[in-house]
Amino acid sequence: MTTREPGASGEFALIRRFFTRGTPRHPRTVLGVGDDCALLQPAPNSQLAVTADTLVAGVHFFSDVAPHDLGHKSLAVNLSDLAAMGASPAWVTLCLTLPAVDLEWLEGFAAGFAELAQGHGVELVGGDTTRGPLSVTVQAIGELRAGSGLRRSGARDGDLVFVTGQIGSAGLGLKVLRGERHSIDDEPVCRLLRPEPRVAAGRCLGRHATACIDVSDGLAADLGHILDASGVGATLEWERLPLSTAVRDYLAQTDDWRLPLVAGDDYELCFTAPAQAQAAIESALSDARCPCSVIGRIEQEPGLRLTRDGHTEAFAPLGYDHFGLA
Ligand code: ADP
Ligand code: MG
Repeated sequence: MTTREPGASGEFALIRRFFTRGTPRHPRTVLGVGDDCALLQPAPNSQLAVTADTLVAGVHFFSDVAPHDLGHKSLAVNLSDLAAMGASPAWVTLCLTLPAVDLEWLEGFAAGFAELAQGHGVELVGGDTTRGPLSVTVQAIGELRAGSGLRRSGARDGDLVFVTGQIGSAGLGLKVLRGERHSIDDEPVCRLLRPEPRVAAGRCLGRHATACIDVSDGLAADLGHILDASGVGATLEWERLPLSTAVRDYLAQTDDWRLPLVAGDDYELCFTAPAQAQAAIESALSDARCPCSVIGRIEQEPGLRLTRDGHTEAFAPLGYDHFGLA
């Protein structure tokens, strides 16, 4: 392993070595890495969906996380936002702040990033590389048919509430990494470190869903954003929440039944749709090899409620909030 201070020439050499190859070429890139800006040509009749997320060492990940996992996750969380909009990922930029140049670390990071980018046909077209406390900012740009974006504001009284995959796993994974719990298998830690964004599912939902969000801060908090934006409420049924074997095992040993509702980082999609669309949604998602479950119903009465053991009570939609005072 070679470690040295970055100089001006070092910075350009690094960018060339790690960030000019590895991700696939996108057909509508006019100009990629190397100039003052990238030039991108959106497809006719499309709109661009643009999002960015920052991961900070010690806040979003442990400083000693495997660089391959960090490269994967820093892209995955952004592709998840594009998925929640129903967009097809096309381009990304990467702003890396590094405490020092560690070539082995950069190799791992670039490989984790590029492997996920390959899987989704996303091209890295620019960014910035600076020295400072470790943090990663990725901006992702997707395309969607003009007017087809899946907003948070469309949920209507009577719609069903759906969630893809399983929830609570990443939250349990965090407890395992902190040494607070054991898990019967490595599913929770894998889900935390290497989330798979639901891109194919998001694309199918464009035709059917009335509202959609990705579950990054916790199901209750994220569904809460749909409820606020749509001016409605919902009742969820605890028994319908889709849980992995490891999470079920954890819940059987603790009274922490709130975990699947409040733990973040699962990167599943939570969406709403009228009951008449359920069969079409299940068939489309099954073609996309994405499991989904109906977990509740939208109601006129604002607020989030939960039915558990036959009782229905208000459930405060608190998730992770960086500036929260609680
Ligand atoms: P400028 O000073 O004009 O902003 P830079 O020296 O920061 O340019 O970057 C040179 C080129 O390399 C630009 O095209 C920029 O987008 C790209 N670049 C810099 N860092 C990264 C990175 N981490 N990943 C991808 N591209 C990068
Ligand atoms: Mg720059």
